[in-house]
Amino acid sequence: HPMHLTDLQIAKATQMKPITQIAAKLGIHEETLRPYGKYTAKLPLKLIDPQRMKGKKLILVTAITPTAAGEGKTTVSIGLAEGLNKIGVQTTVVLREPSLGPVFGMKGGAAGGGYSQVLPMESINLHFTGDFSAIEKAHNLLAALLDNHIHSQKNMLNIDPRKIIWKRVMDMNERALRDIVIGLGGSAQGVPRESGFDITAASEVMAALCLANSLMDLKEKLGNIIVAYTYQDEPVRAHQLKAHGAMTALLKHAIMPNLVQTIEGNPAIIHGGPFANIAQGSNSILATKMGLSLSDYVVTEAGFASDLGGEKFLDLKCQYGGLKPDAAVIVTTIRALKSHAGVAIVNLKEPNPKAVATGLANLDKHIENMRHFTLEPVVAINQFITDSQEEISVIKGYCEKLGVKVEVCEAWAKGGEGCVDLARTVKAVAEGGLSNFTPLYHFDWSIEQKIDTIARKIYGAAEVEYSVKAKQQLRMFAKIGLDKLPVCIAKTQYSLSDDPKLTNKPTGFTIKIREFDIAAGAGFIIPLAGTIMRMPGLPSAPAAEMIDIDEDGNIIGLF
Ligand code: ADP
Ligand code: MG
Repeated sequence: HPMHLTDLQIAKATQMKPITQIAAKLGIHEETLRPYGKYTAKLPLKLIDPQRMKGKKLILVTAITPTAAGEGKTTVSIGLAEGLNKIGVQTTVVLREPSLGPVFGMKGGAAGGGYSQVLPMESINLHFTGDFSAIEKAHNLLAALLDNHIHSQKNMLNIDPRKIIWKRVMDMNERALRDIVIGLGGSAQGVPRESGFDITAASEVMAALCLANSLMDLKEKLGNIIVAYTYQDEPVRAHQLKAHGAMTALLKHAIMPNLVQTIEGNPAIIHGGPFANIAQGSNSILATKMGLSLSDYVVTEAGFASDLGGEKFLDLKCQYGGLKPDAAVIVTTIRALKSHAGVAIVNLKEPNPKAVATGLANLDKHIENMRHFTLEPVVAINQFITDSQEEISVIKGYCEKLGVKVEVCEAWAKGGEGCVDLARTVKAVAEGGLSNFTPLYHFDWSIEQKIDTIARKIYGAAEVEYSVKAKQQLRMFAKIGLDKLPVCIAKTQYSLSDDPKLTNKPTGFTIKIREFDIAAGAGFIIPLAGTIMRMPGLPSAPAAEMIDIDEDGNIIGLF
C-alpha cells in the first residue's frame, strides 16, 4: 500500500525527466531556456505573448475556511493539472515558491503531497533558484541606503527617524528579531533607532515582484515604495534614495518564472511567494501569464480560503494583470467541515455525517463568494482515507440540491488518475461559458467603500468599524493620493470574520479596522483587522530538528 510512504520518499522514487524535455512539451527551444541544473530552468519574459494568451483557460483553486493543517489546495491543484493532461488538455500548474519559515517550522510541505507533487521537491523547498534570497537582498539594500542617508548624507530628505516604516527581512521564522534597536555603538555606527525584521514573504518587494507586468513596471513599483515620513509628515519614497535601479538589478533573474515538473512529467511553473493574510497570496502575474502563453489551461492556487487569497487573487491580481479566470475549484475536506461544526481535533477522524452537514454552512458561503464574482464554482472533495461514504454523500447531496458541480478527488492517493472526474467537470465548466468574471469593486471607489463591500459580501459582516487612528490615516490617504489603490485586508485565515474563534458561517459580526499599512509601491493599502504576524516564530518542536543529510548528499526528514 502506497500510503505509508512519505512525500519525500514518493518524490525520490520518481524518475524525473531533464527540464529540456518538459520545456519541449511547451514548445520552448533549448537555447531560450536558462537551466538551473538538470531539472529546473528560468523562463525569459519574452516568452509571454498576449496574442497566445487569448482563449486560454485559467482555473482558480481556492478552499473553504481551513484547519491549521491546510485542506489540500496545492495537492489538488497539482492533481487537477495531471488529470487535465491525462484527458488530453494541455495544462500547466502555476504555484507559489515555498518559504523556509514553514519548512523549518511546522511540519508540512508546500510542494503538494502524496502522488501530487512538484519536483525536485527538496530543491523547491530549500533555496530553489534563489528568488527569495534576491528579494531579501533587494529589500535590505533599500534599508541600508535609508540608514546611510541619515548617517552619511546628513538626512537631506529630512526623514523623521521615528517614522521609518521600512524594516529588514529574512526568510526564517525568527521571533527574536521582531523588535530590535539598531545603530548602537557610538556616532560612527549610525543613528540609533528602533526597527525589526519581517519574514521575506511579507516584504513589499515580494508583493511588487508578484504584481509587476514587466521589468520596468517592477522598477517603477520599487521606486514608489514609501519607506518613511519627513518631520512634516510627507512620504519619502525609494526613488528619492535612488534605490530602485540597483534593487531591480538585483532582481534581474528573480523576475523570471521557474519551470519544473510534476510527478507525472507535466510542466509546473513556480514563482513568487507572497503571504495571503497580509499580501496578495498567489504566484506572480508574470508566471500566470507565462503559463497562459505556453499552454491551453493554467491551474493556479490562491492562499487560504475564498475570503482571503481568493478575493485578493480576483480583485487585486486579476485587475492588475488583466486576467479573467474561467472557473473556481473550491477544495473541501470532511475534517474541516466537521471542525466547523465544533468537533475537536482528536475526534476529526471518526465518521460524523451530522457534523459534516452542520459544517456545510461554511462551504455554502464560499460557493456564494465565487458567485459574487460571477465565477462558476466546482466543489472538489479532497478525499482522506478516514472519510466515510456516508459523509461524502452528505456533501454531494447538498451540492446537487444547490445545482453546484461536485467531484471527489483522490489527488493525494492516486495523482492524475484520481482527478480525471474533476478534470472533466472543470473542463466542462470552463468551456461551458458559465462564468463571466467581474471583480467585486473598482479601484476608483473610496477605500471605505471597497472595505465595506468585501466585508459585507465576502465575509458576511454586518458592519465595519474604524479606530480613531484608522480614520486619521484615511484622511491622510486622500491627501497624498493613495485612496485609489485596491485594498488587501489582513485578517485571520481561521474564520470568515476577523475573530479566529468564530468558525463555520458567523453572522452579525463587525469587522474592526485597527489601522492601515501601506504598500504604495506594490500598489495596495492593507487594512489591519486583528493582529497579524509579519515575522512568525518557530514551534516548540521545529521541523528543522528532523531534517538531515547523509555523506552522499541525500536529504532526509523533509516531510
Ligand atoms: P494547502 O495548499 O491548502 O495549504 P496542501 O496541499 O499543501 O494544502 O496540503 C496540506 C498538507 O496535507 C500537506 O502535507 C499534504 O501532503 C496533506 N494532504 C493534502 N491532501 C491530503 C489527503 N487527501 N490525504 C492526506 N494528506 C493530504
Ligand atoms: Mg498551498
